[in-house]
Amino acid sequence: MTTIVWFRQDLRLADNPALAEAFANGPVLPVYIVETPEQAADSHPMTGASHWWLHHSLKALDATLGALGGRLVVMEGPAETALERAVAQSGATAIHWNRCYEPHAIARDKHLKTRFSADGLSARSFNASLLHEPWDVETKTGGPFKVYSPFWRAALTRPVAAPLPRPSGRLVSPDGLGRPLDSFGLTPSKPDWAAGWLDLWQPGEAGASALLGTFLEEGLKGYGELRNRPDLPNVSRLSPHLHFGEISPRQVWAATRLYTDMHPALAKDGEKFLSEIGWREFAYHLLYHFPTLPAKNWKPAFDAYPWRESEADLKAWQRGMTGYPMVDAGMRELWATGYMHNRVRMLVASFLIKHLRLDWRHGEAWFRDTLLDADLANNSASWQWVAGSGADAAPYFRIFAPVGQGQKFDPDGVYVRRWCPELARLPNEFLHAPFEAPDRVLKAAGVVLGKTYPRPIVDHAAARAAALAGYEAVKEAGGVAAE
Ligand code: FAD
Repeated sequence: MTTIVWFRQDLRLADNPALAEAFANGPVLPVYIVETPEQAADSHPMTGASHWWLHHSLKALDATLGALGGRLVVMEGPAETALERAVAQSGATAIHWNRCYEPHAIARDKHLKTRFSADGLSARSFNASLLHEPWDVETKTGGPFKVYSPFWRAALTRPVAAPLPRPSGRLVSPDGLGRPLDSFGLTPSKPDWAAGWLDLWQPGEAGASALLGTFLEEGLKGYGELRNRPDLPNVSRLSPHLHFGEISPRQVWAATRLYTDMHPALAKDGEKFLSEIGWREFAYHLLYHFPTLPAKNWKPAFDAYPWRESEADLKAWQRGMTGYPMVDAGMRELWATGYMHNRVRMLVASFLIKHLRLDWRHGEAWFRDTLLDADLANNSASWQWVAGSGADAAPYFRIFAPVGQGQKFDPDGVYVRRWCPELARLPNEFLHAPFEAPDRVLKAAGVVLGKTYPRPIVDHAAARAAALAGYEAVKEAGGVAAE
């Protein structure tokens, strides 16, 4: 009895319930389907950087399956047609997949389950991406949580299933089914903006588990405090691996708990780290219960905010040319590596929304295109958090000062010097505010404002006042009373 295992955001063998159950029933046909946004009816598709990661992750999965004597069959969408073809050519009697929680994926999967079940196939789905299903964590009255802390407290009372071991079994792949991975054009060529990324990242299950091991050994100690420092290596950088399911949160949970059991002095840092996995769970909880989260203000009163439109300011932000070094360093790190440190993500997002008064959806779209960990739930929940329009969001009046944030979280200027090398010779005193440096200091450092590095595109104090004035409209619409 052959089972098709349809891989999606679960590109791993270990702790993969869809695969484990399938192997228990007989041979497995492993399939990945590349759908266009139109085929998937996906209004917020993952594109640029995500495609690069996907290509390399599928390659790694194919190699792992190769070691078991099989191959990954990569097919073009739409999913329904591809699965029909796979069933016809393999004689499969069952299809398994692990659940996705994006609204378009839920609608598609529901339809496919009904459709293939009607044909007499066993169509089954499993949880591989979350510690707890979004509908399993409930308030006392049975509804969804809207605030993180009680959500996480409730989640912590539930047992976390132990991760499944890596399964093995017989793999099948009918001749002529699928296309070579390279033919899908997922990696960039002209220009190849991802050149060198394989030196920075190791997509795939092996890379994910090695990275978790390194993080626990070298980064966990002090995580509670040092995770705020973009100049230090105290975050895990597991986010793209988690997004593509090369490692599961259950595996992260079990490995972290095991490690802190062996090193009790790190218990607090371990819990802090797991509470960040908790923010991921909360974002999925929100997206599941409020599926308009990526598109609409969660607090409708924020619809009244008087956004500006400025193509020039948006471009300056995207290119890391705002004249505020900490903001520019973050945006350049993102472009150069497909990643940005969380502390800097909060700052650049606040800068776009509050200093430039550009709609958070512009930022969400740019991050979705350029982040390797672009994730509909985390990205939209985080953008709305910064905007103040989201569930349990930052207060609208919290406007990060880009100079102060730089001085606080990059005190020695290591991060800014790395990503804004044209400022490298400025003394620390002026590094985060070159526009305040006397002419002789600028000259000695080889900085010519407006030429080698931009002047600030907005004045902080004036921008702050304008942002707060803009929120008056939201207040009038009744939007900030709860804060
Ligand atoms: P670590 O500190 O090592 O955390 C471990 C894991 O916990 C992360 O890999 C991630 O899965 C999860 N996590 C940590 N912080 C958060 C958070 N605030 N919200 C949700 N999950 C979290 N994260 C994404 O994975 N994809 C996104 O598209 C994304 N967009 C963001 C946009 C903005 C504006 C902001 C402010 C944050 C965004 N985040 C996003 C959340 C967070 O910045 C990243 O998850 C984190 O920086 C990833 O780095 P890390 O793996 O080293 O984190």
